[in-house]
Amino acid sequence: MTKREIADVLEEIAFLLELKGENPFKVKAYSTGARVIESLPEEPTVLVQKGLLRNVKGIGQTLEGTVTELVTTGRSTLHQELQAAFPASLLDMAAIPGLGPKKLKTIYEQLGVSSVGELEYACVENRLVGLPGFGAKTQEKILAGIRQFKRHQGFHLYANVIEEAESILVAIRGTPGVVHADHAGEIRRRCEVVQGIMLVVAGGQPQSLVHALRGVPEVTQVEHQPETRTLVARSPQGLPVSIKLTEAAAYGWELLRATGSQDHVEALTQRLQARGVVPRSEIEKAIYAAAGLPYIPPEMREGHGEIELAESGRLPVLLEPGQIQGVFHTHTIYSDGSATLEQMVEATRALGYRYIGISDHSQSAFYANGLKEDRIRAQHAEIAAVQKKLPDVRIFKGIEADILVDGAMDYPDEVLATFDFVIASVHSRFNLSEEDQTKRICRALANPYVTMLGHSTGRLLLSRDAYRVDMKQVLEAAAAHGKIVEINANPHRLDLDWRLCGYAKEKGVKFSVNPDAHSTEGLADVPFGRRCCQYVASRRHGCQAPGHAALTRVLSPAASGSCQRVTLTCSERFGVAAPQTRAVRSSAPPGSHSLPPLHRRRHRRHLLDSSLPAA
Ligand SMILES: [Zn+2]
Ligand SMILES: [Zn+2]
Repeated sequence: MTKREIADVLEEIAFLLELKGENPFKVKAYSTGARVIESLPEEPTVLVQKGLLRNVKGIGQTLEGTVTELVTTGRSTLHQELQAAFPASLLDMAAIPGLGPKKLKTIYEQLGVSSVGELEYACVENRLVGLPGFGAKTQEKILAGIRQFKRHQGFHLYANVIEEAESILVAIRGTPGVVHADHAGEIRRRCEVVQGIMLVVAGGQPQSLVHALRGVPEVTQVEHQPETRTLVARSPQGLPVSIKLTEAAAYGWELLRATGSQDHVEALTQRLQARGVVPRSEIEKAIYAAAGLPYIPPEMREGHGEIELAESGRLPVLLEPGQIQGVFHTHTIYSDGSATLEQMVEATRALGYRYIGISDHSQSAFYANGLKEDRIRAQHAEIAAVQKKLPDVRIFKGIEADILVDGAMDYPDEVLATFDFVIASVHSRFNLSEEDQTKRICRALANPYVTMLGHSTGRLLLSRDAYRVDMKQVLEAAAAHGKIVEINANPHRLDLDWRLCGYAKEKGVKFSVNPDAHSTEGLADVPFGRRCCQYVASRRHGCQAPGHAALTRVLSPAASGSCQRVTLTCSERFGVAAPQTRAVRSSAPPGSHSLPPLHRRRHRRHLLDSSLPAA
């Protein structure tokens, strides 16, 4: 068994133990064990063979027994016993947001409800209200959770799926006879959530492609459907896989058709028809050229006006990962991060970035160990020390300060003045009316000490909807006060949504692509924000190089107020955005870095909410 499979079993054991009402320490041991196993640098099988599993921190005697049993027999007796004690459909209910094992246990024991459908009906019938520890509010929340669950079924985060999509593509490309093969559909467009994996292939015999697909670990239900010239399968996480077979001469057209949204493909087809062009080409670019258009990158093929922009020569230029020179919005162990300040700075350097903005949580965020004034001073002293030790990465002193319910910031001005930059974020009272929430955020944006707005709508993809807020008003306020709006690149957030970036750009809003990293690994999230950046850079601004254009807009000059500590400038040449603080210029040479590997982040069914960054 792979470590991922083992971690899945351990997590399910933890969940079922909790459902059974077992000792919380035992439950915790299994859920911690799952995380430990998944983050091991090597496969547990190797450790078991060498007898070293016990030396791993977080693996006690019981865990060692379970993992050894899983590795040697492929099953766990405890897991099987627990599974037998509950109906399988109960596990589906674990994925309903806001419904933890304790509540689930009560509902199951007292009402005999054991499936999502039954639970929805019980809510409608008002049967949860009388349960101990429940009330009308809880019932309402659970019902909302069920609706959300149903809406999100079949959807997956891009970041959770890309790794398995890549392994399928690699297998297909390695098949004898294959001339071309690429991702298509939502994956190629880098959509924030995807429903399936789609590929287009030219060359190769169907039978050898089937064979290659069967060779990918955990890919199942592989089937050739000759009538539609398609191979279908199920990915390791159960996503539908569809592979379109075509000949090389038509590859460009088939790939284009399978990539774009329906609106994009229809609009393009109409253009081609109007010009009397038969769109059969090996190369996509040639088809766009035949339609009288420049090449439109897959990320933009949404039918959101990109054809008109391309026609008028105003197509935005995508930001390339190597053009981002540094990161803001990172957390350390001072608040809820898992790495030390020094580790974060070192990881930043290893990724080739030239600066890092540290921004732990502010004092009101007690759940995230937010910083009181004495700890701010301690952190600033540590920053100075680490800066001395690692002079080639510029460290900026920042804070992610809560926007309080009335729109005030979480520290008095004299404290805010000690930071190089201030990210203002909403972490509480998501339930305000649209009017109040909008006023609250706009007031924060008017604060002269605020540099940028963090995760502006508060959404967690497939898990929590955005709060009610008039984003147009918010973006207008950001523009009016010269504030930066974050593009939070954490794949669970991707907030500001790309659909709003066009409007923001029109208003002159500046962006910063931030990882909101809570670990060194989290720094690698920056490229996920790339898709949002399509509206950030534009040839309209007359810049010579895309990097220059992108950076001027992304990391923008913002030094209007006297309190604006961070000024981000762009060098004469593209690719260098050296942050300036109080006229101190970073002396590091222009760095570049390649796209960091995408980290697999699978959402755990029952840990969906708790496994997300706390804030
Ligand atoms: Zn944060
Ligand atoms: Zn936050």
